[in-house]
Amino acid sequence: MLLIVSAIALLICMATVVIGGQQLMRRFDYIEQEQALAAADHVQHALTAELNQLTLDAHHFAESDMAHDFVHRRNDYPKNVFRHEAMDTLQVDLVLITDRDGNELYSAYRDDAHRRVETPLKSSLSEVLLRVRNRFTALQVRPEQHLISINDGLLAFDAAEITRSDHSMPTGAVLFLGRYIEADELQRIRDISQSSFDLALGTTPVEVGITDRAMAQWFLNDSKRDNRYAQVINDGEMVIAIALYDVDDRIIGVLQWQSPRSIAALGWNTTVTLLGTIISLLLVAIVIAGVFFIRLQTTALRRYDVQQRYTNIIHSLDESVVIVDRKTLQIKEANAALLRRLGCNEGELRDCALGEVFNNLPLEDVRALRHGVVYESQLLARDGKVIDVEVTLSSVSDQQDDLVCLLGRDVTTRKRAERDAADHRRKLSRLANHDALTGLPNRLFLNAKLPRLLNRLSGTHRMLAVFYVDVDHFKDVNDSRGHPFGDKLLKIFAQRLRTAVGLHDIVARMGGDEFVVVATSLGNTQAVELVAQRMVLAAQAPMIIDDVTLSISASIGAAVYPVHAINTETLLKHADIALYQAKHAGRNGYKIFSADMNLELSEKLALEQALRRAIGTEEMFVEYQPVMDLRTGALRSFEALVRWRHPEMGLIPPARFIPIAEKSGMILALGENVMRAVIKQLQQWRLLGLPLVPVAVNISPLQLQRTDLADLVAQLMNEFSVESRWLSFEITESAVIHDYREVVKTLQKFRDLGSKVLIDDFGTGFATLGHLKNLPIDGIKIDRGFVAEVTKKSSDRVIITGVINMARELKLYTVAEGIETSEQLAKLRELGCDQGQGYYFTSALAKKDAQRMLEQLGGFKDLTDTVKHRVLRRVV
Ligand code: C2E
Ligand code: MG
Ligand code: MG
Repeated sequence: MLLIVSAIALLICMATVVIGGQQLMRRFDYIEQEQALAAADHVQHALTAELNQLTLDAHHFAESDMAHDFVHRRNDYPKNVFRHEAMDTLQVDLVLITDRDGNELYSAYRDDAHRRVETPLKSSLSEVLLRVRNRFTALQVRPEQHLISINDGLLAFDAAEITRSDHSMPTGAVLFLGRYIEADELQRIRDISQSSFDLALGTTPVEVGITDRAMAQWFLNDSKRDNRYAQVINDGEMVIAIALYDVDDRIIGVLQWQSPRSIAALGWNTTVTLLGTIISLLLVAIVIAGVFFIRLQTTALRRYDVQQRYTNIIHSLDESVVIVDRKTLQIKEANAALLRRLGCNEGELRDCALGEVFNNLPLEDVRALRHGVVYESQLLARDGKVIDVEVTLSSVSDQQDDLVCLLGRDVTTRKRAERDAADHRRKLSRLANHDALTGLPNRLFLNAKLPRLLNRLSGTHRMLAVFYVDVDHFKDVNDSRGHPFGDKLLKIFAQRLRTAVGLHDIVARMGGDEFVVVATSLGNTQAVELVAQRMVLAAQAPMIIDDVTLSISASIGAAVYPVHAINTETLLKHADIALYQAKHAGRNGYKIFSADMNLELSEKLALEQALRRAIGTEEMFVEYQPVMDLRTGALRSFEALVRWRHPEMGLIPPARFIPIAEKSGMILALGENVMRAVIKQLQQWRLLGLPLVPVAVNISPLQLQRTDLADLVAQLMNEFSVESRWLSFEITESAVIHDYREVVKTLQKFRDLGSKVLIDDFGTGFATLGHLKNLPIDGIKIDRGFVAEVTKKSSDRVIITGVINMARELKLYTVAEGIETSEQLAKLRELGCDQGQGYYFTSALAKKDAQRMLEQLGGFKDLTDTVKHRVLRRVV
């Protein structure tokens, strides 16, 4: 198509060029013709000028007084004037003067031999001239027609009437002057007109030598009218001809010459050069245009390819791309990914408002074209689906349109994952912040929440109370009835606490049976007491768990913000101290913190520090309290009792430091030290060859929890080469109940080694007699409380009797603790108690006294009570 258009354009151009060339050539031809005509004009003028001179001369001589006189007087005037020399000077070849009637008055002419001949005029001439003279007055011909053809020659003439010099008195006589047009004249005309013409006389084309048909035609026809010049092109030359007419208007010959066609040649050259240049320029232009076009086409193709490539890329993108008008925010283009997501085609989307497709997108920002910002938005699909996207903006404006490109990355999966993760975090946080059993917030939650609450209260006059709540003897219930039972109890208790306090108050489980309640809406300190009372009462109501009805109680310690503390830690600490006091005061009640409570606690802490330092030093030592056979009075064993002599505080009773050691875990180290000291002592006594008795060590529940306790004992025995039968163990009821199976295993190991195991302080704990049946034990130590009352209360006596009888049935021996009087001793013996210890015999002995007792008592047997007592006293 393009080629066709180009070819047509080229053809038109070529045709234009050719026609233009022709026009140009015609123009040059015309100029040439004009030039030829101008040359002809020149020749004509030169000829006319020649004839004019003759006219002037004729008038000069005719209109003179002398010529006038001659007509009247016939003097010699002409003879004198028109002498030979004068005729030469005037270049006149003929003079004729006629009278009014045409009769010759005078004539002079040159003959063929150029001689001057005077009157009469030769007949051939006079005939012609007289004919002319006869109609001379009517002769109105052009000056160039004052010609007469005579005898193959051409005569130019003019005539004037003879008058006076003032033109008066016309005579009717006429003066003729004639000049032969010969070589000289012709040459003069040639010189003047600058044309090298030839004169040819004749009345037919052949006679004048015209061969060209057109020229001959002109000669015969046109020249008769106005076309007195003719030019034709002959053999590449231009032939120009001027027709000559005589006075009778008859053609008598031509002036003919050839003109070189220099203008035509120049025209040709110019045209050829011009056309050549134009064609060359045209060709160059065509070539340039072609190259330009090809380049343009290549560029366009390349641009199209690039555009296509980018379009393909954009459509193959998984990201949603949309192009909108920046001003109107109407959608102009969208890629396949977006259409797919929205579930529509491009036509439906075109000119839609951006806001209808992208939800939550700040449209002002789109207009402002904020680069580098990632917007969170949602695509609203046709089916109602919402797709989370992250949108970035960029400008794609061109010269015509101000456009913005929005690129939306589908972040649905990520968002879902984030939501899941957030859910998960919430769940984890809930798990982390809540207690799985009761569903209450836990310690972690409280530790985070309470500081915030306090923060909010600071600067206000509002109060806040923190209650530390502890289920009394929960551990025993848990141990005796099992964990599932204990769990149910805690759940019920938690529920009761929750209902006992306000909706906005916090009830948190701190672990075990410890709860913390934070009450916020309190008017005064009395309100604190009311809340505490409500909780105490709530705890007391009977519970039914697994068809068992039981009553529990709770101890509560409270601390009030900002009265007792202003930060979380201290508030909790003070509430805990108050709880401790409540427990100490007999449980089942509450205590509100006071400053002196804190003092007690700090003493306790000081003691704990001192104890930590004292363990392993000489401050700690062991004393031995003898255990006597109540029937025989024989020394049956010692009980090893640890002693602490503080350098400043003096002797500190175990009742003060053992609980601290147990609570802090220091009891493990302390217990091991005592055991080592006892075994070492036994080794010494054995090495001294003394008769040994078993030495009982007190084992705390925490020690029993160590699964390697039996191994430790075996190893120590081995180390000091002491037989296990010389070491026995006293354990408390609670220790037995706790972690029943493991403890039973350890106890069994002790017995397998040959040691004896005794239950200490029997009757104070929750152990039932049924428990004892399955325990690998050897004896029971009846608590001092019962012994003290044995002589007074019949009820206690009943218990002791029951215990002794039951023990006997179970093949266990009994040891009475704290025998202080002989009455007690007597009663116990009566009741059948096997052994006993107490101040009645002796308090715990220093090791050297115990040793002396071994040395001396070894041989005494079967002593009466009194004697035994005495002996003992003596020994000590
Ligand atoms: P326990 O095992 O029941 O020890 C008997 C306690 O009764 C001893 O108190 C002893 O001095 C005291 N006692 C003995 N006869 C009489 C008496 O006639 N009247 C009175 N009122 N008391 C008497 P102690 O030495 O103060 O020890 C108290 C408790 O400390 C012990 O009770 C025992 O539970 C614990 N304990 C002592 N030493 C150790 C030890 O090395 N390890 C462990 N785990 N606990 C120990
Ligand atoms: Mg004991
Ligand atoms: Mg005891």
